[in-house]
Amino acid sequence: MLNQNILALGKKRSTIREIFEFGNQRAKLVGRENIFDFSLGNPNVPAPDSVQHAVRDIINTKHPSAIHGYTSAQGSEDSRTAIAESLNARFGTDYSAKNLYLTLGAAASISLCFKALTASPADEFIVFAPFFPEYQVFIEHGAGAKCVVIPAQVQDFQINFEEFEKKLNPHTKGVVINSPNNPTGVVYSAETISRLSALLTTKSEEYGHPIFLISDEPYREIIFDGIEVPFIAPKYKNTLVCYSYSKSLSIPGERIGYVLVPNTVDDFGDVYAAICGAGRVLGYVCAPALFQQVIARCAADIADISIYEKNRNILFEGLTSMGYSCVKPEGAFYLFPKTLEENDQAFCERAKKYDLLLVHGTDFGAPGHMRIAYCVQTETVQRALPLFEKLAKEYGL
Ligand code: PLP
Repeated sequence: MLNQNILALGKKRSTIREIFEFGNQRAKLVGRENIFDFSLGNPNVPAPDSVQHAVRDIINTKHPSAIHGYTSAQGSEDSRTAIAESLNARFGTDYSAKNLYLTLGAAASISLCFKALTASPADEFIVFAPFFPEYQVFIEHGAGAKCVVIPAQVQDFQINFEEFEKKLNPHTKGVVINSPNNPTGVVYSAETISRLSALLTTKSEEYGHPIFLISDEPYREIIFDGIEVPFIAPKYKNTLVCYSYSKSLSIPGERIGYVLVPNTVDDFGDVYAAICGAGRVLGYVCAPALFQQVIARCAADIADISIYEKNRNILFEGLTSMGYSCVKPEGAFYLFPKTLEENDQAFCERAKKYDLLLVHGTDFGAPGHMRIAYCVQTETVQRALPLFEKLAKEYGL
């Protein structure tokens, strides 16, 4: 007898993957160039040259055992030190290797946090809709805790504080935020962050235990219009930062990222040790050794992400001028407009007849919307616009 919940997860591909596979089948019939696949958040810009140089240099100059061998479970001290120094230079912090646990991208980082913090099945983690769907899987099936969803504040996709306050209770173990956000592209304002931090401080005192803020930040560097994303860790002492180089360095297949546990976290030593323990339990030890070394050299670098802002501008202006309604994203590479009928699944099905592959908002906990991942060639975005227009005409716009 297998674990039926886990079996069901394995049998059902995520909607995003389903659409992606549908696109691959259609491409065989009509040609890849005629498929407008906006389903997957797979960065389409190349990794910066520094990454290629680092890989070549490491391979050409180091002994194979020093490249491919095991490192410490939490990552090599050299790599963790280099990352800490890069954060300190940028944010004026004083992190060191002991604050970092290197792991396999943001997915592993957030899974580790949920696992490390869950002490009982009654523990709750709050997520704000719309949210990265895997949170629910990691919380409920990975950690065995409860996932509590706060409905979306659709006019701006900032935090719906009224609903949030209602759901906070002594079982609340952690709160997950993701800014810049997948799927909306919205960046939390300084006001949202300070209100959130004040509320969590008050409630932690009231309940007599910390409420951890799990800040999932794989899109931290992908921001537009010259805005600044506040670095959250110094603003709330019990923050755990989950970071990934997947998007900023365009290396999602290399699986490298980290959990940052600042010294300010209550019982810092135990929380860090619990992250290490979660790494043992889930097997997320010793992040890929070659890429630990690459990151040690490239932690401050970033891929040329200018195409995302260009695509955002073309798509946002194009769609809103046709009558689609959308909150303007300030980061990441997603647009999350309202669908032109309430049933977002029916809308996305209808879009398929133009080979426009979109992901319905229901999957992210915000029905009535669609996610458009525009990490594609600008030409694809431009050629898709007339198809979005045809679709809009079907709804009388
Ligand atoms: N968190 C969010 C919000 C994401 O959008 C993604 C990937 O798209 C992840 C986590 C997982 O990222 P990684 O590839 O680094 O595991």
